[in-house]
Amino acid sequence: MKIAIVGGGVAGASVAIYLRSLGVDVTLFEKKQMLIAGPPACHLHAGGNLYPDIDDTQRLQLLRESIEFVRFYPQAIERRPTALAVPVHILLNPKELEERAFILAQAYGDLVAKDSKAKVLGEPEHYVLSFNHEQLQELQELPTPKVPQNHLEWMISFAKEVALTKLKYPVLLVQEYGINIFRLSAIAQLLLQDATIHYGTKVVDAKHEKGGFKLTYEKNGKRYTQHFDFLINAMGFESGYLDDWLGYKKSRLVEFKAAYVARASYRQEHLYPEMIFHGIRGTDRGMAQFTPYSGGYYQLHGMRKDITLFEDGVAKSSEVSSQPKLPQKYIDWIEKGWPSKVALHRTQRAIEYVSRYIPDFKRAQPTPTPLYGAQQIPGANLTLRAAEVSFEGDRYARCEIVKVSSILSMADAILQKLITLGALDPSRQGGRIYPKPLPEAKIDSLAKEIAKARGYPEAMAKIAIPFCHSGQNCVQ
Ligand SMILES: Cc1cc2nc3c(=O)[nH]c(=O)nc-3n(C[C@H](O)[C@H](O)[C@H](O)COP(=O)(O)OP(=O)(O)OC[C@H]3O[C@@H](n4cnc5c(N)ncnc54)[C@H](O)[C@@H]3O)c2cc1C
Repeated sequence: MKIAIVGGGVAGASVAIYLRSLGVDVTLFEKKQMLIAGPPACHLHAGGNLYPDIDDTQRLQLLRESIEFVRFYPQAIERRPTALAVPVHILLNPKELEERAFILAQAYGDLVAKDSKAKVLGEPEHYVLSFNHEQLQELQELPTPKVPQNHLEWMISFAKEVALTKLKYPVLLVQEYGINIFRLSAIAQLLLQDATIHYGTKVVDAKHEKGGFKLTYEKNGKRYTQHFDFLINAMGFESGYLDDWLGYKKSRLVEFKAAYVARASYRQEHLYPEMIFHGIRGTDRGMAQFTPYSGGYYQLHGMRKDITLFEDGVAKSSEVSSQPKLPQKYIDWIEKGWPSKVALHRTQRAIEYVSRYIPDFKRAQPTPTPLYGAQQIPGANLTLRAAEVSFEGDRYARCEIVKVSSILSMADAILQKLITLGALDPSRQGGRIYPKPLPEAKIDSLAKEIAKARGYPEAMAKIAIPFCHSGQNCVQ
C-alpha cells in the first residue's frame, strides 16, 4: 500500500518514524527544507498544570501522552521542573490547583505501578511539591547551586529572584519538563535520513482516484502527480486546504501566537526552573511564562493580546471552506518573517511583563526573531488541549494535535486503521517501537545548524541536563 504523509511538522515526521519502524513504507512531502520547523513547543504539558480551565480528563490524557512522548523522544527533553505561582490579583485558588495536581500525581503513580517504564518524570511522590512563603524565604538564605540536585535546590533561584510578596501560596513545583524544538527537529531528521522525503515540495492539489488519491505537487518550479492508496494530512494549520481539495467538511479554529526570546547574559551562573505566573487568558492579566534555555537565553510568553496573542489572531472554518483564513499579514510573517519593529516591540513588552514577577529580568535584552506560528484546534473550543486524529472513510487520516505530546495516540489510531485495511498484520497492534538513542554529538551539531538556519542563537539548541542512555538524568 502506498502511503503519503503531507506535512513534516512534529505530527507528520513522528508518524513517519513510527510507521517506518513497523516496516511500513511512507512518502513524506514537506514544503520547507527541514522537518519540524513550524510553530514552537517549549513545554511538555505532562498534566496540563498550565491550564486551570481544562477538566481533569484532558489533564490526565496530557499526562499519559507526555509520558509516551518522553519515551519516544528522550533526547529532546530538557529535564527541569516547572514552578507554578498564582499572583495575588488573580482569582484562582492555589490550594485547588494543588489538589488537582495531587490527582495527577496519584495517576502517575498508578501508571508507574503498572509499568515501570512509565517512570520518566521522576518519583511519583515528587511529581508535585508545595512551598509556602516561609519555606521560600528560608531558601533565600541558601547558596544557589550551579546545577540543582534536588527539588528544593531547583526552588532556590525562584525564591531569590521572584517578587514573593506578589504571590498567593502555596507555590507548586511540578515535573512538567521542557522540550527543545531544535533538538526535536534534528532527531526527526536523523531518524528519517533513509526515508523517502520530498523536501522543498508543496502539495498543491489532491483528487479522489481509483479508491485512493492523486496528489499534485510542485518542486523546483515543476509539477508532478502521483497516486497513493492512503493519505495522511499532517499540514498543521493548513490542513483545511487538503480537506477542501477532497471535498471533506471539517470545522476547526486556527490561532496565530508568538513567544519571544530575550538574552540575560548576566544570568548564566545557574539553572532556573521554568516559571509560570497564572493569569486570565486574553486579558491584560494573562499568564506569564518564563522558559530558560542555555547560554542566558529565555523564551517568554504573556497571554495578553499585546504579547503572545493577537486581536485578530483567531480564524474559524466556514460553511464553504474547512480552511480558516487568518489575516494575510500573519501568513506573510509565517512565510517571510516578522517586521523587525513589531518583533522588538513585542519582545520588549514580554520582558517588561515577566519582570513584574522577576524584577531583575528588566535588564534582559530583546533578540530579533520570535518563536511563533499558527496552530490548528479541531472543533470550535479554543481551550481544547488534547486532540489527536480524525478519519474520513478508511483511507484518509487527518492529524489534528494541539499539543505535541499527542503524537503517539495519533499514530496508534492510524496504525489501527492500517491493520483494519489489511495493510499490516494484526500482530503489529500495540507494537509501538521506541527509537534507539542517537549519538548526542550528532544531535547537538545538527540542532545547532537548524537553530542558526532558522535565525535563532545556536546556544538555544543545547540542553542543560542531557539524557543518559542508562535512563537516568545526567548532569554535565
Ligand atoms: C507560540 C506557540 C507556542 C507553542 N507552545 C507549545 C508548547 O509549549 N508545547 C506544545 O506541546 N505545543 C505548543 N504549541 C503547539 C505546537 O506548536 C503544535 O501543536 C505543533 O506544532 C503542531 O504540529 P503539526 O505537525 O500538526 O503542525 P506543523 O508543525 O504546523 O506542521 C505542518 C507542516 O506541514 C507543512 N505543510 C503545510 N502545507 C503543506 C503543503 N501544501 N505541502 C507540503 N507541506 C505542507 C508545513 O510546512 C509544516 O512543516 C505552540 C504553538 C505556538 C504557535
